[in-house]
This record gives sequence, structure tokens and C-alpha cells, in this order.
Amino acid sequence: MKQNNLPEAAPKKRMLSFTLHLMGRFLLFFAILLFIGFALQSKMTESLNHEAEKFSTRQGELLSFVYHNLFRAEMAELNKAANLIAAGKITPTDGVQAISSPGQQGGLLDINGNSLIGIALPEKARLQCARTLQGEASWRYYKDMGLVAMVPVYEGPVVRYVLCKLYTDTGLQDGTSPFHFSAQKEDEKVLLYDTATQQVIVPFHDYTESPFYDAAKNAPLGLDKLLEKLSSGQEADVSIFDPELNADYMLSAAPIPDTPFLAIGYREWRSLMTGITNIHLIVLWVFGLLVVLFCVFILYSFANQVAAEESTALREARDEALRANQAKSEFLANMSHEIRTPLNAILGMNEMIMRNASGTMKKYAFNIKSAGDTLLSIINDILDFSKIESGKMEIVPVSYSLSSVLNDVYNMVSYKAGQKGLAFHMEVDPHIPDALCGDEVRLRQVVVNILNNAVKYTPKGSVTFKVQAADNLPDGQLVLEFITQDTGIGIREEDKAKLFAKFQRLDLEKNRNIEGTGLGLAITVRLTEMMQGSIAVDSVYGEGSTFTIRLPQTVEKDDPIGDFNARIEAALREEKSYQESFTAPAGKILVVDDNDMNLTVVQSLLEKTQLQIHTASSGKECLAKIAQEHYDIVFLDHMMPEMDGIETLQRAKKLPNSQCPHTPYIALTANAVAGVKDMFLEKGFDDYLSKPVDGKTLERMVQKYLPPEKIKPAGESTASPAEEQIDLPTALKYCGDNEEMQKKFLTMFVSRREAVTKQLNNDWETQNLADYTTHVHALKSTALAIGGVKLSEAAKSLEMAGHAYCDGPEEEKDNHLQYIREHHSETLELYAKLAAEAQIRFGIS
Ligand code: ADP
Repeated sequence: MKQNNLPEAAPKKRMLSFTLHLMGRFLLFFAILLFIGFALQSKMTESLNHEAEKFSTRQGELLSFVYHNLFRAEMAELNKAANLIAAGKITPTDGVQAISSPGQQGGLLDINGNSLIGIALPEKARLQCARTLQGEASWRYYKDMGLVAMVPVYEGPVVRYVLCKLYTDTGLQDGTSPFHFSAQKEDEKVLLYDTATQQVIVPFHDYTESPFYDAAKNAPLGLDKLLEKLSSGQEADVSIFDPELNADYMLSAAPIPDTPFLAIGYREWRSLMTGITNIHLIVLWVFGLLVVLFCVFILYSFANQVAAEESTALREARDEALRANQAKSEFLANMSHEIRTPLNAILGMNEMIMRNASGTMKKYAFNIKSAGDTLLSIINDILDFSKIESGKMEIVPVSYSLSSVLNDVYNMVSYKAGQKGLAFHMEVDPHIPDALCGDEVRLRQVVVNILNNAVKYTPKGSVTFKVQAADNLPDGQLVLEFITQDTGIGIREEDKAKLFAKFQRLDLEKNRNIEGTGLGLAITVRLTEMMQGSIAVDSVYGEGSTFTIRLPQTVEKDDPIGDFNARIEAALREEKSYQESFTAPAGKILVVDDNDMNLTVVQSLLEKTQLQIHTASSGKECLAKIAQEHYDIVFLDHMMPEMDGIETLQRAKKLPNSQCPHTPYIALTANAVAGVKDMFLEKGFDDYLSKPVDGKTLERMVQKYLPPEKIKPAGESTASPAEEQIDLPTALKYCGDNEEMQKKFLTMFVSRREAVTKQLNNDWETQNLADYTTHVHALKSTALAIGGVKLSEAAKSLEMAGHAYCDGPEEEKDNHLQYIREHHSETLELYAKLAAEAQIRFGIS
């Protein structure tokens, strides 16, 4: 578990640094954006203020225009009265009367400024009067008095009087004067200011209470700034926007032409900029939108980057998994070799035990063999599957004989079916061509897998195997169809989909006692696909299943396979005839393996053949041996340290002083992967034998490559030492190495056989266990004296059982009796065998 976590740490760390990096970039971009935003904002505000000032200035101009017109209208009325007086159309008194009204007082002045009619003006008004006398109509404001307008009254070309009109302060202030600006609103305030007296002439309502009254200076708010700007003389009308004064209002000042007055306006910024602020807002909105888009873009690219990073992580994880898988496959391949080697030893030794043991021992040995075979098949399955998964499994098409494949299949399956009491039928279409090309090994594997399953999952009934040609394809190909029908447990409809998944076993309650890894079908389906074939299943739960495999194969020759059943029988006969082992005392072979146990196994397996078996435990030793002696066959292990089998062979072939230049070399290896045989043949080996080797195959191989003149049928030889009942060295030991004495003893022993047999049978039948024990005791000793070691051992066991029966606890008596029952006849048989051997070997009867 820990190991699994390790590869995850790197992507996580990288992901974190990537996220930090991206966040950093995001923040940087955001800061830049904010900066741009602020710059834009201040630029916008600046430009907006500029616009507002311009706008306000225009408003000021308008204001000044309005006031100008007002002043002109007032002046025109005054001029009109002056002209009427000058023309004598009205009396001066009437004229003065005409321009007077409440808050507005008319008056007529003489050329010295003295009042002739109406109001009298103060001394300070004389200057104005003097200027009017020069023909210039004028306006002046006098503090605590009011606004005074003066026009000249002509008499001919000369100014005779000055007509004047006073707009009293009261009238100006209470809003009844014509100069009161009627359009005073909340968002727009206007007042009239006299720059000469620095007085507000016409205020607006509650001026001194308003925020535009600068109480400290007793002047309109911002006046000094407006005046300053005006005095700079660049513009006739000025506007300012100074948030310090009043953040919401634009201030403007416009001189009223022909008067010394200023029209001062306060306009609310927002109302002034209604149109412009909209644009401002739009720009801000657009900017905001851009920010949002930018964020979305960043997030999108973040997500993209994350996805890219994740896919990199995934890719790396996949590569890692593939590497792990590769490592797993290599590990499994190596492990299979490592497991196969000791298993080879176990199974080989076990075979020896099976040959020599009898009774319970033999049964145990059989169990070992069956467990070993199962283990071997599981290892093979795992190895195959790991090869398929890592893509190392290759389909190697070779020319093969279909009948020989079917023969193997028959041998493998009919035996198993027979053991389970199942009938095995095989129906082969006699018209299928026999010489085909395809991967024979894999074809056999998939077919045997399916058939083994059929036997495994069929408790009673039969298994039928049909082989036919489903289709003839162009280019000399045909589709072979293998149909396996069983009357077994069947497969549930819902389980069919899971059937070909790896490590998947179905219907576990029913199959609990059936051995399996769940890999067989997974391998079968993959191999079938690799061979461009197909597999289908049809099953009725509780009734049985039919598996159909279709495989395209190339036809090498059109000769039909013919009556296959007849061939099977022939093959069986051959098999039977082979049961008899051969002997070859003159044959000499060399077995090379770095593992001592393997050498022992091969030696033991071939012991019966009386071959001269030499061994070498390295490639180097092998080369030394073949340089000294001739061997009929060399068995060469593949995997050896320092110099492996292939290198050893290559060197052996080039060895100048080799005594074995034409000797067949047979590769002996635990690596049983497909294509290995071809590889060995290509490397110069004459044949290939996969470990663990079984005795029969090994003997067959020896028989194939040994010079025929050195092979003798088994009957011609004495029994192999392993089967010998008389061990000569032991016998001689007990006779002081006196051969004559040994023969004498043996003759006596053989001649007593009948009597002893009768005696023991009698003891046993009468259940006289005490006598029985005494008699087997005697047999034990006499047998050993003539070298009958096995018989002596058997008698000894019976004697012990007899003693235990007679003297041992009551509850164990049955067991001892059982032992004697099982071994009594066996022991007597050994006696008989010994007698027969005595006759063959020593001519004693
Ligand atoms: P196993 O090693 O378990 O036999 P397989 O891959 O060969 O694995 O088969 C997978 C499962 O398919 C088996 O466990 C068994 O449940 C089911 N199965 C396969 N062949 C048959 C059959 N002929 N009849 C019924 N069930 C079968």
C-alpha cells in the first residue's frame, strides 16, 4: 500500500507548485488590471471634469447672455424714457415717473450729478454720472443702496441731463427685481456679484444658509478661485470643479457684458453631466465586463491547465502503471523460472517415489504429483496472462499436423474425463485438411482450456468435442470450428457477461470445491483474439454449456485428415507400446545444469535405462568434458550463471578439440514460453525440453537422439537397480564377501518361499497374530542376510504392527490390523519377485 502511494507524491507536489504558480500569475494580472482600472478611472474622471468644466463654462456663457439681455432690456427702457424726454414728448417728471415702480426709483440728474427730479444719489455716484455725461450708459452698484443704471438725456448733440434708476437693495434681495434669476432650482443656483464692491447683488433664496455661502469670507463659495482664473485672462467665462469646495457642484463665473458684474452659477455635477456620466458608466461597465471576461478567461485557462496537468499526471500514472505492469510481468516471468526449477526437482523426485513406492506411499506420491501439476498449470496461466498483458505474447505460426494436435487433446482430456466417470466423445470432420499452418501451441492451449473447463464443470454426463471447417476463406485459408458441449452445471444468463473477465469465477457456491484461478477463459479469449478468431458461449443454467471457438488457419496441403478415430486408436497403441522402457547401457550422455537437484532428477529419471550419465554444473565444465570425452547427447540448461546454455553451445560448436562435433544438443529449460523452442532451434540446438521434465518425455527424447544400435528393448535387460530386490553388496556383507556362501543362502531362502508363504497366510487367516509376528520377524532377518533389503523392510513393518497389535493399547488394535491387512500380500509379492530375480540373476530356482 505504501509503495502505491509513492508515485502519487510527485504529481501532487507538482500540482501544488503549478497551482501556486498559476495563482501568482493570476494575482499579477489582477494587479495590473486594477492599476489599469485606476489609471483609467482617474483619466476618465479627469476627462469628465474637463468636459464638465467646458460644459459648465458654456452654461456660464448662457447665464451671462441671459443677464446681459436682462440688463439690456432694463437699459433700453431707460433709454426709451430718456429719448422721449429729449424729444420733448414727455416731461422729465413724467419720464422719471414712468421708470419708477416699487423697489425701483427713477431720478433725473443735472450735469453736476445733482438731483433734479426723483432720487438723489450719493457723492460716490458722481463718477458714474460724469461718465454718462460723456454719452455712455452704465451700471453701478452701491453698497447699502442698490443697483444704479444711468443713461444720458440729450438736448441736440449735447448731454443735458442724466436719467437714472435705482434698484434698491431690498428689491434686489427679496427677489422682486428684474434681475432675479427665475430658474433657481435645487441643482442649479445663480447669483449676481459685483466685483467692484465685492458684494453679492442678487442672491438666491437663503443664500447665506446654503452650502454656497462662504461665511468666513462673506462671499460666494469658491469666488477667489473663480476670480483668480478669470484674472488669468485666458477665458472670458470660467468654470471650476474643485471637490474640496463642494464635491457635487461645478462652479462657474461669467462676466456680464457692459456691466462690472459677474453671474456666478452653481450647477450640480451630476445633472450637468447626465449624458456624459452615462458614457462614463458605460465605459466603466465595459471595463468591468472586461475584468469579468478576463477572470473567466483566467479561470478557463486555469481549468485547462489543470486538465492538461491532470492529463500529464494521468499519462505519467499510466506510464508508471505500464512500467509497473512490465516489472510485474518480468517479475512473474522470473518467478515462474524460479518456481519451475524447484518444482522440477519436486516432481522429478516424486516420479521416482511413484515408481518405487507401493501402497499408501504411492498414494501420497500421486497426491504430490497432482498438486504439483496443478501448481504448474497455475504458474503457466499466470505467466501466460502476464505475457499477454504486457504485449509480449506472440502468435508464432508454424506448419503442424491437426491430427497430432487432436491426438494430444484427446489424450489429455479423455484421461481426465475418464477419471470423473464422464463420457468423452470426439467427432472430427474427416474432410478437414490435416497439414495446416497456425500457432499450434496456442491453438492447443485454447482448445484444451475449454475442454478442461467442460470436464471440470460437468459432474455427470458427457463432454462432446466437435471439430469442423466452418468456412473456406480466400488465400487458402479456412476457419476451424471447435465446439465443446457439456452436460454440466451451465452458466447463469447474468454471469455470461463476466465470463471472460480476468480472475472472474462464477457461481461460487457451486464451484467452491472446484480448483481454478479464473484466468483460463481470460487467456483463452485473448489468445483467440490474437489469432484473429472468435469465441462464443451458449448455455442453459443447470443443463450444460456449449463453447464455440473459430480460428482461421492456413491450409498447407489439401489432404484430408480422414478417419480420426482410427488414428487415435493407432496412437493409443503406440503409446501403449511405449510403456515398455528401453535400456542403453552403452549410451553416454552429459547433463549440464547449475542446479545439483536438477542433475539428480535427470539422473534418477533415466536410471532405469542404464545409460551412462555424466554431469557438469557449469558451461565451463561442460566444455572441459566434451573436449575429453564423446557423448551421444548433451542436455544443456539455458539459465546458468557466467556462461548460459546458448553461449556454451556456441563455444562447444567452435571447440577445436571437441569430442562431440556431431552430438545432438538439447536445451533443457524452465522457460516454457511460446516461441522458445524456435528460438533454441535457431540458436543451433537440436531440440528443446521444458522443465519440469517428466520421465516419459525425457526417455522419449533420449530414445530419439541416441544412436539406434545402442538402444535395447527393456526385456533384454535385467531389472534396473531401482527395481532390484537383491542388493548384492548387502548380501555379500552378510556372507563375509563370500560369493558361494551368498548363493547358498539365497538358494535356501528361495526354496523356503513356499513354506514361509503358506505359514504366514495361515497365521493371518487364523488371526494368530502372535505367531504371525514371530514368523515375519524371522523373514526380516533372513531376507536381509541375502540382500533382500526391501523385503526385509516390509517384514520389519509387519513385525512392528504385529507387536503393537499384541502388546499395544486396545483402541489402536484396529489400525495395526488394518496395516497388516494392507501389506500382507504386498510383502509376499516382494518375496515372489525376489525369487524370480534370483532365478534371472543367479540362476537359482
Ligand atoms: P477457472 O480457473 O475458475 O476455471 P476460467 O476462466 O476457466 O476460470 O472460467 C471462469 C468461470 O467460468 C469459472 O469459474 C466457471 O464459473 C465458469 N465456467 C467456465 N467454463 C464453464 C463450463 N463449461 N460450464 C459452467 N461454467 C463454466
